[in-house]
Amino acid sequence: MYHLQCIECGSIYSIEEVVYTCRNCGGLLDVIYDYNEIELSKKELSKQPLSVWKYKKLLPITRDPVTLQEGGTQLYKLHRLAEDLEAKEVYVKHEGMNPTGSFKDRGMTVGVTKALELGMSTVACASTGNTSASLSIYGAKAGIPAVVLLPAGKVALGKVAQALMHGAKVLSIRGNFDEALMLVRDLCAKEDFYLLNSINPYRLEGQKTIGFEIADQLGWEVPDRIVLPVGNAGNITAIYKGFKELKTLGITDTVPKMTGIQAEGAPPVVDAVRSKQQNITPDPDPETIATAIRIGNPVNARKALKAVYESGGTAETVTDEEIITAQKQLAQMEGIGVEPASASSIAGLRKLLQNGTIDPDERIVCIATGHLLKDSEHVLNVCPKPIEINATIEDVRKAVFA
Ligand SMILES: *Cc1c(COP(=O)(O)O)cnc(C)c1O
Ligand SMILES: [Zn+2]
Repeated sequence: MYHLQCIECGSIYSIEEVVYTCRNCGGLLDVIYDYNEIELSKKELSKQPLSVWKYKKLLPITRDPVTLQEGGTQLYKLHRLAEDLEAKEVYVKHEGMNPTGSFKDRGMTVGVTKALELGMSTVACASTGNTSASLSIYGAKAGIPAVVLLPAGKVALGKVAQALMHGAKVLSIRGNFDEALMLVRDLCAKEDFYLLNSINPYRLEGQKTIGFEIADQLGWEVPDRIVLPVGNAGNITAIYKGFKELKTLGITDTVPKMTGIQAEGAPPVVDAVRSKQQNITPDPDPETIATAIRIGNPVNARKALKAVYESGGTAETVTDEEIITAQKQLAQMEGIGVEPASASSIAGLRKLLQNGTIDPDERIVCIATGHLLKDSEHVLNVCPKPIEINATIEDVRKAVFA
C-alpha cells in the first residue's frame, strides 16, 4: 500500500526498514501511497468526529495506534483582531489544544506507533522543547524509554517540566538545537534507538492531518493561504502534503499558498525564498525569543522550499518585538493563548498584508503551533507584574482605579 522514496534520487525503501534518509544520496524520504487503492469520501469522513486517527486510511500504520486522542483542535474565526489587521477572513487553528499543548503530538502518535511496528525498544529525539514533551507522553503510553536532548538554557520551562514528569531521560546539551540533532542522529545509529525528529518521514504523516482537519472544518473548502511558523520546516511540508492528498483523492480541488514565517534572528528558509534558492545556507548562530523556531539548519528545508514554490506561497521574517505584540493581540483581542513561536504567524500575516503581498480578501488560516502555558517565564518578562497590596478594600480599590 505504501513505501518510502527519496525525494532527490528516487531510491525506494521498504516499510520494514529502519531508515531516515536516503542511503544512496542522503536525501529526505517521503511516504508514497497508492492513491488508487484508497477510497475515502466526504460523506464517510463527515460521519466521524475530528482526530488524527479519523484519517487512518491515509496514515502508514497497520497496528493499533499509541494514542492520547490528539488532533480535533479548534479552528477559531478571528473578529476583533481580523478587523485590526484589515483582513476579511482569518482563522486560527489552535494546535496548543493537543494533549501536550503542541502540534508535535500529531506526529508523535504516528511516530511512536511506527517505532513499535518496527520492533524498536527505545525512542529518542533532539528538541527545542515541544518534541521532547510529546515524545515523553507517547513513550510513557507505549511503555518504552524515551531519551531527549535539549539545548541547555534555551528551552521553555513548561516543556522541560513535561519531559521530566512523563519520565524521559532528559539530557541538557551545552550547544544549540542543531548540535543536539547531530548528536542524537549519531546516538540512534550507534545504539539502535528510534529517531523521532521530523527528519523521520512518519512524523510528517501525522502532522499532515492538520491540513485534513482544516478542510474538514471549513466544510471541505480549502483556504487561500496557510500562514505558520517555520523551524525545522517539517510542519509546512506536512500540511502542504495533507492538502495535496485531498486534491489527489478528489475531495477538494485546490491547495493553499503555503506561507512560512521565521524570526529575524533565525531566517535560513526566508533567505532562500528571497533569493529563489532550492537550498538553504545554514545559520550557525540562530537567536530569537521564539525558542521553538530557534533553528539555524532546518532539516526539512528542501521539502519546505518545494511546498512554498509549488503552492505559490512565500516566506517572511518578523522581529521578536513583532512576535510579542502579536502574542498579546491574540491573547487580549481574541482570548487565544499561544507561545511566542506561534504568534509569529500573526506577526508575519500583518507584515505581508501591510506590504501588499497578501490580499485582504483572502481566506487565511494561521497555525498556532503551541500553547501559552508552555512558556510562562516569558510572560513574566513581557507583561506587567501582579500588583501586590494589603488585604483591604481601600487598597484593592486604589489599585483597580489607579
Ligand atoms: C516545532 C514547533 C515549531 C516549528 O515547526 P517545524 O515543523 O520545526 O517547522 C513552531 N512552533 C512550535 C510551538 C513548535 O513546537
Ligand atoms: Zn537518494
